This record gives sequence, C-alpha cells and structure tokens, in this order.
Amino acid sequence: MSVDVLKVDALRAAHGQLVAVREVSFDVARGEVLALVGANGAGKTTLLRTLAGVHPAAAGRVALCGDDITALPAHQRVRRGLAMVPEGRRLFGDMSVRENLRVAGEHGRRGRWDLAAVLEALPTLQPLLERPAAALSGGQRQAAAIGRALMSNPELLLLDEVSLGLSPIAVDGVYDSLAALKQERLTTLVLVEQDLDRALAFADRVLCLREGRIVLRGRPGELTRAAVTAAYFGMEAIEEGVR
Ligand code: ATP
Repeated sequence: MSVDVLKVDALRAAHGQLVAVREVSFDVARGEVLALVGANGAGKTTLLRTLAGVHPAAAGRVALCGDDITALPAHQRVRRGLAMVPEGRRLFGDMSVRENLRVAGEHGRRGRWDLAAVLEALPTLQPLLERPAAALSGGQRQAAAIGRALMSNPELLLLDEVSLGLSPIAVDGVYDSLAALKQERLTTLVLVEQDLDRALAFADRVLCLREGRIVLRGRPGELTRAAVTAAYFGMEAIEEGVR
C-alpha cells in the first residue's frame, strides 16, 4: 500500500483572533499535482505556510510520508523532504543564482537533484548562473526559486502563486518547467494558483478554499467551471460539488 506523501487532518491556523484555515483535511498521493484555488483572503497562503512550518498550526495534524511533522520547525521539514517556493520568491538578492542554488543544496537532503540535474530541468537558468538574483526578471527569479527548492531534493514541493506579477510568456515558461516535473511523477506538487483556468488545465486535483474551509474538491474533468466559480465566490456552499 502506498503511503500518501501529504496527509492533512483537521488543520487549523490563525492570525491572532482571525482563523484563516478551518479544519482542513486532504491527502496528496506521490507524484500527484494538487492546486489550491480561492479568492483573495481565502486562506491559501496561510495553509501553505502552515504546511511548510513557517506558520504554526493551531490544531490538527500534518503528516509527510506517514510521519507526523506538525510540531517540526520549517528547517527540519526541509530535511524530511518538504520544500516551498514562497510568494515573492525570496532569493538572496546579492548572491548569484549559482550561490543561491548551492546554499539550498547544502541545507537539504541528498538525492537526484544536484546543480546539473536542476539545470537540465530548468535550462533557462544556465546563462544566469553568475548573475546576482536581484538582477533577474520576475520569470527568471521564479525559475531560480523553483530550482533552489529542488536542490533540497523534496518529496513535496509547495508553490505559492508562481504566476504572480509575471508576464504571460514568463508564466508559460514557469509552467513548462512544472510540466516537466509533473511528467516525471517523482515530485509531488501542491500549488496555489489564482488563475482558475490554468489550475484546471494543469492539476490532477483541485481544492477550492473559501473563508478557510474547503468548499469544493475534485478532478478537473469532474468539475464544471461554473461549479468552481460558484464555490470560489461563495454563491453556493458545496462540498464535493460535481456536475
Ligand atoms: P491571497 O490570494 O490574497 O494571498 P490567500 O487565500 O492566500 O489570499 P491568506 O493570505 O492566507 O489568504 O489570508 C487568509 C486570511 O488571513 C485573510 O483574512 C487575511 O487577511 C488574514 N491574514 C493573512 N496574513 C495575515 C497576517 N500576517 N496577519 C493578520 N492576518 C492575516
């Protein structure tokens, strides 16, 4: 029996009095691509940050490959195979792309991803290796942030709004890189995506959050766009709303 890479049970997370994630439960299988969608403020970023361990869980449980990691700090989750590409792609701006990748490799796990493998998967990084990260365009920075996350050899890669602030061409470039990862089915992806059409086109499964709760979940082929839009904007409170 294969163990889910990620298992989230009744997870709750708050910002002071404001509960941003409410009793959220879902599983992600190895190699699967799950998209989290929802309107601004729905709780997607808080959920991702809680999974990564940079925001505390107020209740509930997170398991990575069968192990309870709920109480572990972020850096220990990285060592166990969880990496996050945060919104805003925080790279070390005055360090070169090569140095950013090297540092990430030193703090992660050993595995198939090293500099050569990352450059093969993300060839656009090759000519940028010696450039300071601060000098990159938005799309280049996003590719470097994905490469940096891969250097830690994650089982599970969390990506927060990879398209944010990028030109349509740059977004296509980032998704081409993600498509290559998806095709291998070795790295499990959970991504927050504002663009509903892109989420439905790319992911194996979609979860829609509203006010911190999962209001719709399913495979793109089983969900109508109308059902997702309704859930997204709160026109209907439906869980498992299939056509
Ligand atoms: P967006 O797409 O705008 O990033 P989101 O779905 O990722 O939205 P979150 O950023 O997780 O949603 O926000 C969920 C709720 O928590 C919102 O009501 C937001 O105002 C609140 N919130 C988020 N970050 C903080 C914070 N640092 N302090 C207080 N409240 C916060």
